[in-house]
Amino acid sequence: MTNSSDASSDTGTDEKYKKRMQRKKEHIDQKIAEATEERGIVILITGNGKGKSTSGFGTVLRCVGHGMKAGVAQFIKGKWDCGERNVLEKLGVPFHVMATGFTWDTQNKELDTKAAQEVWVETKKMLADPELSVVLLDELTYIARYGYIDTDEIVEAINNRPKMQTVIITGRGCPKGLEDIADTISEVRDERHAYRAGVKAQKGVDW
Ligand code: ATP
Ligand code: MG
Repeated sequence: MTNSSDASSDTGTDEKYKKRMQRKKEHIDQKIAEATEERGIVILITGNGKGKSTSGFGTVLRCVGHGMKAGVAQFIKGKWDCGERNVLEKLGVPFHVMATGFTWDTQNKELDTKAAQEVWVETKKMLADPELSVVLLDELTYIARYGYIDTDEIVEAINNRPKMQTVIITGRGCPKGLEDIADTISEVRDERHAYRAGVKAQKGVDW
């Protein structure tokens, strides 16, 4: 609702608003002008909160939505039904998963190492493929942390990837060597999780 006195105060606010937005635009334009380098980046999505893998998959979807190519390697969670996999495979996105499930299910280091290395062989091929604009390495941090694959070997393969390829790593407790090569690091903070209130993990929401 407006009356004449409101309208005059609005005009004042409008002027202020316009000035503020002008300053904001100048600031943003300057930042845009400063960012001139064109190359793929390494993104690390880590932390204890929910939203790491879904963020990685969101970027894969964004890439594929532009008609560009992406690939996925998923470490640790092989046996789990995965909604993203079901749709991405239909879209022709290569998707490599470990043949075993959670490491705490198998409780067999030899078996886990073998399964991780099988996926790693496929991962290296993706990291050498210039056709792939985005490669998601979901839960990769655990593979390095548990020593299934040497961190230096992972770092080398990522560093030698095609110039325009972006790599997304998800998972908690990233080893320092791997963290060091990330251009963008986002930590998802665990402020609250329904699971701790006794809500069961749900298909379509949690996997
Ligand atoms: P999402 O796949 O939902 O993005 P995430 O990748 O961040 O989750 P992971 O550590 O990979 O989380 O955990 C996998 C599963 O555990 C998911 O089903 C997720 O909902 C659940 N989860 C994530 N964070 C928490 C938490 N802090 N407490 C309990 N469960 C969690
Ligand atoms: Mg995850």
